[in-house]
Amino acid sequence: MGVALVGLGGLSTHQIAPALQKTRHCRLAGVVSGTPDKIRAWQAKYGLPAGACYSYDQFDTLRDNPDIDIVYVVLPNSMHPEYTIRAAQAGKHVFCEKPMANTAKECEAMIAACAAAKRRLGIGYRCQYTPQHLEMIRLAREEVFGPLQMVEAAFGFRIGDPNQWRLKRSLAGGGAMMDVGIYAVQGMRCLAGREPVEVQAFESKTDPKKFAEVDETMTWEMKFPGGVLAHGATTYAFNGMNYLRGLARDGWFELAPNAYGYSGLEGRTSRGPLALPQVDHFAAELDDFAECILKNRPSRSPGEEGLADLKVIEALYRSAAEGRAVKV
Ligand code: NAD
Repeated sequence: MGVALVGLGGLSTHQIAPALQKTRHCRLAGVVSGTPDKIRAWQAKYGLPAGACYSYDQFDTLRDNPDIDIVYVVLPNSMHPEYTIRAAQAGKHVFCEKPMANTAKECEAMIAACAAAKRRLGIGYRCQYTPQHLEMIRLAREEVFGPLQMVEAAFGFRIGDPNQWRLKRSLAGGGAMMDVGIYAVQGMRCLAGREPVEVQAFESKTDPKKFAEVDETMTWEMKFPGGVLAHGATTYAFNGMNYLRGLARDGWFELAPNAYGYSGLEGRTSRGPLALPQVDHFAAELDDFAECILKNRPSRSPGEEGLADLKVIEALYRSAAEGRAVKV
């Protein structure tokens, strides 16, 4: 299936375009960018015809290009809803990067627009397509170590350039939580296999100037129906926090110290190492999305998954702001 990338920034350039050279069911069939120089460089590198390259003004004319089946939205978070909805209205299936949008309400509008256009909507939760995360989910859900009791998950990094869009609320919707805390939230929901009922979060800023508009470091607790508790953390202030751990009655299983990197995921259980093959996360998610469309089967990460995470994240922000536990 032909994939058009919207937004030719770091992720498109260094991960998604190279992955599209390895996919079984997908190929790079177009690009949308506001920078003519970038378009020229991409045309030269990937042999794209001029007719497959679009400016943002020309976006809606994608509808006239039958070579493009899927539009992959790789823009700053606040732009995801508009380009997802316009792509669906242009008759294209949409794969949208995480976080799906800045608010749950926008996620609902995106789901409704894709449903109305009878197009598929997938969210770029690449980890869900790795053997390591799938095994963690299996170990939890099949109760291989007995019933799950607790999940611990955390992801953060030390962010650089203070002027980037990730630190602007209007473009990013939030800070570390929206960008990388979402991986931990998603890991907790996936292992628990249900939605949390109550959450409590704490926020701290060690650099209030740099993080004037968005959250810097957060920790949180979650309570799931059936009694599973979860404990999480995220940050933009330091490196080294990158794990997902399930603790069950008869043993434990974990991905650490690299649960969410692009490659080299590592893990073990209380019985020994998890020896599983490494895959290209982006090739795997795109091939799966194409197969879902071709075989008309459900996706592991549809719009509803993005919406569920945003509902939890909104509750976490509310809890931190109000200084109390809140219902989701
Ligand atoms: P980036 O800053 O490298 O690229 C963003 C692109 O959007 C640039 O090409 C920029 O020119 C374009 N753009 C258009 N309008 C803009 C505006 N008003 N302000 C700023 N840029 C604008 O960002 P990125 O790292 O490629 O992230 C893009 C999306 O991908 C984000 O939603 C991010 O959360 C997501 N992402 C996902 C992963 C993952 O592992 N799945 C990793 C990184 C980023």
